[in-house]
Amino acid sequence: MRYAEVSVNSPIAQRRTFSYAIPPGLSIDVGQAVWVPFGAKLLQGIVLELSQYPAVEETREIAGVIESTPVLSPSRVLLARWLSEHYLSPLFDAVALMLPPGFRRKVVTFISSPITPPEYDTSSLTREQRQVLDLVGKQGTVSLRELEKALGKKKAQAIVSQLVVLGLVVRHYELERVKVKPKKVRYLHLKIGAGEAQQEAARRREQGKASRQASLLEFLSQAAGPVPVSEARRRAGGSASVIDALVGKGLVELQEIEVKREPISYQGITPSKPLTLTSAQKSAFESIRSSLLQIDKGHPSPTVFLLHGVTGSGKTEVYLQALAEVVKLGKRGIVLVPEIALTPQTIDRFASRFPNKVAVLHSKLSLGEQFDEWQRIRNGEVDVVIGPRSAVFAPQPDLGLIVIDEEQEWTYKQHDKSPRYHARDAAVKLAELTGAVVILGSATPDVETFYHAQRGDYHLLRLPERITPSEGSPLPQVEVVDLRDELKAGNRSLFSRSLSRATAKALANREQVILFLNRRGAATFVQCRRCGLVLRCRRCEVTLNYHADEDVLVCHQCNYRMLVPQICPRCLSRRIKFLGVGTQKLEQEAGYAFPQAGLLRWDSDITKRGKHSHEEILNRFQAHEADILIGTQMIAKGLDLPLVTLVGVISADTSLNLPDFRAGERTFQLLSQVAGRAGRGTLGGQVIIQTYSPEHYAIQAAAKHDYTLFYDQEIAYRRQLHNPPFTRLVSLVYSHTNDALCQREAERMKRLLIEERDSRGIADLSLIGPAPAFIHRLRGRFRWQLILRGSEPAAFVSQIPIPPGWTVDVAPVGL
Ligand code: ADP
Ligand code: ZN
Ligand code: ZN
Repeated sequence: MRYAEVSVNSPIAQRRTFSYAIPPGLSIDVGQAVWVPFGAKLLQGIVLELSQYPAVEETREIAGVIESTPVLSPSRVLLARWLSEHYLSPLFDAVALMLPPGFRRKVVTFISSPITPPEYDTSSLTREQRQVLDLVGKQGTVSLRELEKALGKKKAQAIVSQLVVLGLVVRHYELERVKVKPKKVRYLHLKIGAGEAQQEAARRREQGKASRQASLLEFLSQAAGPVPVSEARRRAGGSASVIDALVGKGLVELQEIEVKREPISYQGITPSKPLTLTSAQKSAFESIRSSLLQIDKGHPSPTVFLLHGVTGSGKTEVYLQALAEVVKLGKRGIVLVPEIALTPQTIDRFASRFPNKVAVLHSKLSLGEQFDEWQRIRNGEVDVVIGPRSAVFAPQPDLGLIVIDEEQEWTYKQHDKSPRYHARDAAVKLAELTGAVVILGSATPDVETFYHAQRGDYHLLRLPERITPSEGSPLPQVEVVDLRDELKAGNRSLFSRSLSRATAKALANREQVILFLNRRGAATFVQCRRCGLVLRCRRCEVTLNYHADEDVLVCHQCNYRMLVPQICPRCLSRRIKFLGVGTQKLEQEAGYAFPQAGLLRWDSDITKRGKHSHEEILNRFQAHEADILIGTQMIAKGLDLPLVTLVGVISADTSLNLPDFRAGERTFQLLSQVAGRAGRGTLGGQVIIQTYSPEHYAIQAAAKHDYTLFYDQEIAYRRQLHNPPFTRLVSLVYSHTNDALCQREAERMKRLLIEERDSRGIADLSLIGPAPAFIHRLRGRFRWQLILRGSEPAAFVSQIPIPPGWTVDVAPVGL
């Protein structure tokens, strides 16, 4: 008899596997999906290990296989185990990350005749029992659902059970089918000839109006056939109103065409050739190539590279050429990008270098699309998989390279559901298991990543300069404006004198301006508008958060509380209670200050509404439909806007005052990214950062584009305050609809943890809190947080039963 250790899809399975006997005649492999009896139910499970002996005395048998080929490769099985242990998550949650999309579907029960039906006198059956038996006899297989419809749920189940006991029918189970709708795409096509369309376009241009209609007509006249509306939007700025106008005039027509579900349209993508690398790129590339070759020959070599270079320094070209090298070796790659960067422009760059060999995995694809892409990847049909963090779990065979672009991004950490993994750490682990190489790319590396590079755990590669089309446009000039001086000079608007002047000048030159407002955490801290003082916790150094409902300041680490003082303790001003501004307020003020300018607001409230509105806003700004773009951190990410010559940061202090030890890092990253937005074109650019803390090292370093300046200071503080990477953190959050109960439970847990810690004699483990979590109330539930800090906090927590209601986050980002 052989046995299988199975990860079972049940909440009570937690982090363990269960032993099952493999019935004779059934061939079972590691990674295979099976049905197993679990209590009274039949559940999905994945075989993680085969053995000669069961882990327990009494075992039940595997009931059947779901799919004959394994769904997980042996390295993914090990990865799943690692994820579960490292992030203290249920094992099946970890396994599920790697299953085909839609795999955790419902089970459908079918009834059919046994292979050798017993002799039985059916006249002793009831009328309904006989009816069911006849139906099964006639159809061969009947779904239980069908019987439930006809007879009612209870009765159908009872009858089937009776017939099963008598041996007259057998049950078997299948996964519900993936519901796949055919996909239809709206196409635009000309109703007039191409020549005629060009004449129409020329006529419009002569009249000096409707130039966007002209562009669209020209674009369509050059296309070989009908063009998808989305492409017309993207390439010719054809907004809905422009299209409507042309349709109304009978010049173009909209058609719905059913298409094969493929997330990338290769139509209109011209294959691109590798560029001749600059010397910096070449030396980075050669290091990576040499590792790839060494590893391929089975020699030890560095496996994790940190490619540090500002935006525009040519990192992507290095990724592309490293991927081509991997393909040459008969292997494949995975490229992770932050969710926000997964734009058609990014995908196009990879698709044009590897035509028809790129797959995209994305939560916005329909389930059917995801399913098709997954299959294509598993069959080894693509060279490169691109996607957000979850794409690290794509079933890419013969993995040779994993690229993580903008590795510092917080979106790589899954924080809202289990397993709370970080894609970077998962990638490094997967690379170790598969013999792949990892490239972490960043302009502003995560402090912990850079620390690893400094220590030699990772291999550091640098691209020190931007590659620019002309000799001009180096990194933009950054000016830091001290807001305290503005108030002294009697300026009470949101715009410093310097920012007002620069904006007016840019507008006069018909250039574009971005006004950036970091809203995360805004209006939660209290600041003196005269001297800029922000109230901090005396014990923890972090900013106190303002709770409007109780009108108090709270420390989110230790629960220290104080009333908002009437006057500023530093400068005695009465203007202490300044709560910051939101994008709407900023839009309003910008409207007064620059009445002739066209304004466009872009924040998550607006872009959440639709799946394309994000791109539409960007397209409109790119088409110069507006002069000033107002937005939150989203605008900081990879956009190319050559007409933007000025970026104004309304207040750098909002992120600086997050109640989190990473506030300085966050600020530096954001400001650096924002600064990278200006001067992408040949016009050059300027950045103005407004702040009450002009001397802060994160702001100073960002203004000088100096990562090392920032890092050296930051790492010194981390060491001094015992924060990661010198310690590790685990956060425990309890949530409940009753705030007081929540606090009591958190305090009880703290006592329990302290008791455990002391009885085990663990010296280097401290508990911080309990305190209300940064987001104290979420969907009607209150949240209290405990933070464990030490050298191995996760190992400690793993040995303690955590009651329901608690969420455990290992190595949390954003406290
Ligand atoms: P990053 O990924 O660091 O932002 P990119 O790879 O996107 O940088 O490069 C910035 C720009 O420079 C792109 O337009 C790219 O096509 C161009 N570029 C990159 N490498 C080269 C090269 N070796 N020669 C010429 N142009 C290059
Ligand atoms: Zn003050
Ligand atoms: Zn505190």
